[in-house]
Amino acid sequence: MPEWDKILSNPEKFKKWKEAAVFLDKNIKCFLEFDPEKGIKLSGTGAPADRPETEPADKPLSGIPFAVKDNIAVKSFKLTCGSKILSNFVSPYTATAVTKLQNNGAVVIGKTNLDEFGMGSSTENSAFSPTHNPWDVKRVPGGSSGGSAAAVAAGLVPFALGSDTGGSIRQPASFCGVYGLKPTYGSVSRFGLVAYASSLEVIGIISKTVSMLKNVFNVMKGEDPLDHSSLPAEEKTPAGKTAKIGLPKELKSIELYPSVRKTLDSTIRNYKQMGYAISEISLPTLEYVVSAYYVIATAEASANLARFDGIRYGERDFSAENPEELMLSSRNRGFGKEVKLRILLGTYVLRSGFQEQYYLRAQKIRTAIRKDLQKAFESVDAVLLPVYPRPAFKPGSKEMDPFSQKLADIFTSTANLAGIPAVSFPAAVEEGLPVGMQLLAPPFAEKLLFSMCRDYEKVFPSPNPPDNYFNRSI
Ligand code: GLN
Repeated sequence: MPEWDKILSNPEKFKKWKEAAVFLDKNIKCFLEFDPEKGIKLSGTGAPADRPETEPADKPLSGIPFAVKDNIAVKSFKLTCGSKILSNFVSPYTATAVTKLQNNGAVVIGKTNLDEFGMGSSTENSAFSPTHNPWDVKRVPGGSSGGSAAAVAAGLVPFALGSDTGGSIRQPASFCGVYGLKPTYGSVSRFGLVAYASSLEVIGIISKTVSMLKNVFNVMKGEDPLDHSSLPAEEKTPAGKTAKIGLPKELKSIELYPSVRKTLDSTIRNYKQMGYAISEISLPTLEYVVSAYYVIATAEASANLARFDGIRYGERDFSAENPEELMLSSRNRGFGKEVKLRILLGTYVLRSGFQEQYYLRAQKIRTAIRKDLQKAFESVDAVLLPVYPRPAFKPGSKEMDPFSQKLADIFTSTANLAGIPAVSFPAAVEEGLPVGMQLLAPPFAEKLLFSMCRDYEKVFPSPNPPDNYFNRSI
């Protein structure tokens, strides 16, 4: 394992790391912008050559490099959201979560690829290039934070930031064999996150180890006057006992890919062996989760994306003859297919006279799933679920067309609708691909998730893909 806090301060190590990153990124294409020197300047710590290697690590993340999903603002880095409409947009400010990390010594080294505006599960919907899975470049890394997950799995950074609206941190973490945390809604400030579906999303972390996940979360969390939906994030973990795990009985009748079913069974066995009690629970509303998620997410997206009008931001059609034409043609040229589909769907479900039929029903399901989970947490401390019904798939594969990808969000979007924390952890490698499992906990019980993942990490640490920075001599 590289000594991450030395990479940026030792000129020789820095050069080797940078060369390896540029080389590995040619195959996986995880970065939309890679500029560690700019990040070092921004952090105010000086160029690598100016900094003594012995500089005391007085801050929790001193000298640690990290990457940021390109829908999270970092001053003077681009902020494209993977979209043509923002292809030349440079951020004039920095997200609170990033500022907190920088204030604690961490250094932004680049921006990572994503499905346009976070809409997708494979990073194929980026307007610039698809990202490839470091375990098998012929497969997708998952999405929408696919660039961040691929960068961590390839060993280019010890952690990266992502956003999770319906699974965009946990699913790519699972496809790439790393950890992914979707924190409690409101526990991390969303100031500086370009909004897709504001009531569902949160900035979170993808990392190689549980201790990094925990340290980064502890730095990022907390109330922010710049985000009125942020909360003080007080720890609510029951202390000092082995947690009880709940297993939804509905899982028996949901089709899972054989390697995912096998990993679910082995995860249960492993936790039992560690002394955890596993009991059956019921989430009767699970089958309605995907429909509710896509109604709410697209409704919010149609409103949030209205600001990209060709006037205030980004791409503009200079040949337009009046404001209406300017807006229409800029949006038509700037947005990709999936984004247009979702704006149309969102507009459809919100159209006057029909809110009752779609949006309000979806909100009722949202309340019902939250109640199901609240009830479950009366008898268990955490709920175990797969992350995704199958491991990393091949781009353009028929059985995983865009509609099937949406149906497969069943296990992840549940936590977003309920606002609760959830973590994806590497649980096995099957048929040469990593398979992640997921733990969900009551609001603000992140500490419990870390300790349960830490127990699993002792028997099964995050596996390394065949070619990665860890096997390269540095
Ligand atoms: N697959 C989900 C979607 O396409 C993930 C979104 C997200 O978490 N940003 O909406």
